[in-house]
Amino acid sequence: MAEPKTTRKKTTRRTTKKNDGPVMLKSFNPRTGKVIREIPAHSPAEVADVVANARKVAPEWAAIPVEGRVRMMRQVRHNIYRLQDRLVDVISAETGKTPFESLSLDVMGSLIMFYSFEKIAPKALRPKRFGPFDAPFLPKALVGLNSRVEYRPFGVVGCITPWNYPLWNTFAASVPALFAGNAIVIKPSEVTPGVGEMLKEIFEPLPSGVVSVVQGGGDIGAALVDAPCDKISFIGSPTTGRKICAAAAEHLTPVVMELGGVDSAIVLDDADLDYVTSGTLWSAFFNCGQTCSSLERIYVSDKIADEFRDAFAAKLAQVNQGDEIGSLTFKPQLSLVERQVNDALDKGASLLGGGPGAGKDNKDGSLWFAPTALENVSEDMDVVRNESFGPLVTISRFSDDDDAVHRANGEAVNLTASVWSGDKKRAEYVGSRLRAGVVSINNHGVNAGAAWAPWGGVGESGFGRLNGEEGLREFTVPTHVARSMMGQVKQPFWYPYDEPSETMIRGVNKLLGSPDLGERFKGFFEIAQNMSKALKNKL
Ligand code: NAD
Repeated sequence: MAEPKTTRKKTTRRTTKKNDGPVMLKSFNPRTGKVIREIPAHSPAEVADVVANARKVAPEWAAIPVEGRVRMMRQVRHNIYRLQDRLVDVISAETGKTPFESLSLDVMGSLIMFYSFEKIAPKALRPKRFGPFDAPFLPKALVGLNSRVEYRPFGVVGCITPWNYPLWNTFAASVPALFAGNAIVIKPSEVTPGVGEMLKEIFEPLPSGVVSVVQGGGDIGAALVDAPCDKISFIGSPTTGRKICAAAAEHLTPVVMELGGVDSAIVLDDADLDYVTSGTLWSAFFNCGQTCSSLERIYVSDKIADEFRDAFAAKLAQVNQGDEIGSLTFKPQLSLVERQVNDALDKGASLLGGGPGAGKDNKDGSLWFAPTALENVSEDMDVVRNESFGPLVTISRFSDDDDAVHRANGEAVNLTASVWSGDKKRAEYVGSRLRAGVVSINNHGVNAGAAWAPWGGVGESGFGRLNGEEGLREFTVPTHVARSMMGQVKQPFWYPYDEPSETMIRGVNKLLGSPDLGERFKGFFEIAQNMSKALKNKL
């Protein structure tokens, strides 16, 4: 795909409608304020057609054994690798993130994901069998069923994704669904349509129609939900998540919701100061803080708080805005970050680094905001209670471990949370008390990239799981295939409900329910004595 020439326009409007033509999505470079390209959006009617076509193709994809799907997905992985330099250019241009982060977080993260699922999928999707002597032996023998669970795909999964990792997050929402045998329709963010266009090229090795991309804004996302699909996989804000849940409820479509959080870290007094300041600094500011699992609240033990703040501030001052921290991607995000910082400063917070007016300016319509750390913050400040999704972190002190846990689990919801300590046991104990979808020890934020383990939130940070075995099975209907253990021998609880049948059932209930060993023996004999009489009379 050739890069179109840039035009010099200071605008952040994302869509325009040409006379009777399609709505055009504007792709905008937030580092420079320039429009990069315009891409036509789909219409809601076209979305319905795309879903109908995916529905036709879905059974063929589902019929390919998982090993065959894995082989084709491997070709997609190699395609991502082949396209990596162009991907880095397009991702960086549309999001403002550094090429290093496009290469590591988006491209490497995607390769890790494909590679991991290729290894996990054959085992995770293999039917689960209950052997005759596996627990629970007694009920199985009495009911007379041989059971297995098949992980069958839903059919068509609609994947609606955000702009912060336009490649990696799009895959996070959709790739487990594909491995699981579903056809997918992706609605990428209207903020990054150029990356959305590249998806078609990436998925070329798959049979036509297994992956479709529909471009557009919220209305096109809504049309996808309403098509309806058989499952919706959503990554985005809690506000949109609520709307999608309500719309999906009309069709009783199941949903996976990966939403945002105000993630916290607890720094215990025995943490290594150099390690923890480097780790928390990166976790707060990578991808310019536009990561659902970005560290937004740091709670530091009183005992090391002064040393921590000095070391953190010194390192923060060394991070290069431009080469290491990119611009924000989306204009409303800049306004939110500015509002939160001003609210906090008005209410008595102080700046440890960054702040409005620091760093690069935005005179050309670009979206720079310097990485900013606030201290002396309180629970009434918007920045402590609500997600910033920008280069903003707060640092507070705590008196003891209970206080730290209480504050980290406060009103603000964690998607992920972390504990930093030199003592593994103590860190594990504190971590066990944190309410979050993922808990990390001496690390934060990268866990979404750990595609081999489940990823997801709690409460308002979301439900359902992506990644890992759980993520693959999220996109399957666990179907119990039950075969009569005795071939075509009739069952004692079929018609007629005669006396030997009832006595036999009473025997079963004694055997399963009675606390008394003698009574259980009695039950066993009642079953043995009445079985053939009960079966003889069956209709
Ligand atoms: P958003 O909710 O504004 O948009 C996400 C997607 O939903 C976009 O493609 C958008 O077009 C679409 N959409 C909007 N309205 C819709 C509607 N009514 N019906 C269907 N689709 C609709 O989110 P965003 O600004 O793109 O992304 C930022 C948010 O995403 C943050 O809250 C962040 O925490 C969250 N996020 C979560 C994860 C995670 O894994 N939990 C990962 C990345 C981002």
